[in-house]
Amino acid sequence: MRRFAALLLAAMVPATACAQPAAQPLRAGAPKLIVVLSIDQLSADLFDEYRPHFRGGFARLAGGTMFRNGFQSHATTETCLGHSTILTGDRPARTGIVGNVWFDPKAPRSDKAIYCAEDEAVPGSNSSKYTVSPTHLRVPTLGDRLKQISPASLNVAVAGKDRSAVMMGGRSPDQRWYPSGSSFATDLASAPVPQSVARTNAEIARVLAMPRPALESPPLCAGKAQLFPIEGGGKPVGNGRFGRATGDAAAFRASPEFDATTLALSAALIQELKLGSDAAPDVLSIGLAGTDYVGHSFGTGGQEMCLQLLSLDRDLGDFLGRLDQWGIDYAVVLTADHGGLDIPERLRAKGVADAAWIDRELTAERMGQRIAASSNLKGPVIAFGGPSGDIYIDPALAGADRARATSALVAAYRAHPQVEAVFTRDEIGRAPQPSGPADRWSLIQRVRASFDTDRSGDLYVVLKPHIQPIADTSRYVSTHGSPWDYDRRVPVVFWRKGMAPVTRQEAVETADIMPTLAGMIGLALPPGSVDGKCLPVPGVPCPR
Ligand code: ZN
Repeated sequence: MRRFAALLLAAMVPATACAQPAAQPLRAGAPKLIVVLSIDQLSADLFDEYRPHFRGGFARLAGGTMFRNGFQSHATTETCLGHSTILTGDRPARTGIVGNVWFDPKAPRSDKAIYCAEDEAVPGSNSSKYTVSPTHLRVPTLGDRLKQISPASLNVAVAGKDRSAVMMGGRSPDQRWYPSGSSFATDLASAPVPQSVARTNAEIARVLAMPRPALESPPLCAGKAQLFPIEGGGKPVGNGRFGRATGDAAAFRASPEFDATTLALSAALIQELKLGSDAAPDVLSIGLAGTDYVGHSFGTGGQEMCLQLLSLDRDLGDFLGRLDQWGIDYAVVLTADHGGLDIPERLRAKGVADAAWIDRELTAERMGQRIAASSNLKGPVIAFGGPSGDIYIDPALAGADRARATSALVAAYRAHPQVEAVFTRDEIGRAPQPSGPADRWSLIQRVRASFDTDRSGDLYVVLKPHIQPIADTSRYVSTHGSPWDYDRRVPVVFWRKGMAPVTRQEAVETADIMPTLAGMIGLALPPGSVDGKCLPVPGVPCPR
C-alpha cells in the first residue's frame, strides 16, 4: 500500500516560542501529554476481527490495557452523542447531546432542526449552513476541567468532523481544527493560524489536484473483494481500492488519505505548540473520521474497510513513532463514537438471516401520510425524525388531535414486523437512569441514557436487529444509530510506554474514560459529579 502521510509528516515546521504561565505537574509521574484517539465507526466487532492482523499503531495500543467490551451505552449511537461521552465522563442524558440533529419548534429561526455543534442564535445560520459552537454541550470536558486548575496546560482538538472536535475539546480549547470544505478551519476567533494548519491545507489542495491510483491490496483484503449489488439505487460495493479522480473531495474523505492527513496535522501541531514539553499536562483529542465515511460508502465487511483499517494501523504506528522520536512522555486512549452495521446482502451471505433493508413504509413521510389519512388529521403528522430513533410529532397538532396522532402512531409502529419497540416520552422520562453493567441494560434504559426532556422526541422507535435503516441508498449504503450491540460496543484502550498487556472482558462505558484519565493525571473530581467511574488501569490511582 502507498503511504499518504509521508510527505505531510516530512513537512514539519520548527516550534515557535510562546509565553506560558509557569507549569506544574498535578501528580508526580503523570504523563505530560494525553492523546485521545476516537476512530469514528470502529466497532468492537471490527477491532476483534482485525486485531490478529494489526502490526502498527493498533497493535501497539492493543498491547496496553484493552477493554474489549466498551460501550457507548446509550440508544442513539450517533457521532455527536458518542463524542460527547468520551471526555466528559457523562452519558448523553447529562451532556445534553441527544442527536446529531434534533428538533426545536421554539428555535428563533424558520429552520427548526438544530445541529448539535451549532449556535442557532447567530443570525443567518441554519442547520446545514451553521455556526460551529459548543453551546449545546452542558458539561465540561477533561480539557475544560484541566485548564481551570492548570492554566499552563493546553487543550487541543483536531478532527475530521467539526462535531467531534467540538464535543471532545469542549468550551475552552486553545486550538480546534476540523474540515470546512476541503481545508481545516476553526471556530476560535482569537487563535492565530498555526503554520502546521496552513501547510496541511496547501498539501490537501496539492493532493486533490492530482488523480489517485488505486491501492494495492494485500492478500487479507483481496480475499474480501466480492461485489454485492445494493437495493434502493446504490452502486454495488465490496471490491473498491480507492482510486480517485482529480478534485474528488468526497472520495478523498472516504479513503485512508483522510485520516493520514488528520494524523499528520495532529503530529505537526504537537511539535509547533510544544505539546507535552513541560510539566503541565496537555490534552490532544483526535477524531479520525475516515473509517466512518468508508463504512457509510461501502459497508464494513468488504475490501474497502480492510484497506482502510490496515492503512490506519500503519499511519497510527507512524504517528506514535514520531512522538517516541521527540521524547514525549505520553499516554494514549483509543476508542470510538459508535460501531456500525454492514450491508444486508453481505450479512445474509455470512449467515445473518434476519438482515434486511428497512421497509419504505417506515419513513417519516409515508408513516405520517398514512396516519393523517387513517385518523383524519392534517399532515404531515411527523414533523421531524425517523425512520427510527426520536420521532417528533407536528407541533401544530394540539389537544385531542395530538393524542389521536400519538396513539395511532404507536399502534402503527408496534404492528410493523420490522419494529422491536416503541416508547413514548412519558414512558422514557419515568424510567430510572440506568446503572450496573451496560451490556445488561434493557432497551428502555438505553433509550433513557440519551433522553432529554427539552430536546428529545415524542416517540422513540427501535427497529429489530440487523435492519439497515436507509431507504435511499444512492449516497450511503450502511449506517449506525441503533441500540444494538453492533452499534454500541466499541474498544476502550489505555496505553502508556512500559504498560504490561492486559485484555479485560468486563463491560465498561466510554463515560469511564474521563474519570480514568483524571486519576492518571491527578485531577480531582467531586464525588458523584459524573456518570463514569475510574477504571482499573495500571499506574492509575483511582480515588477510593
Ligand atoms: Zn460517528
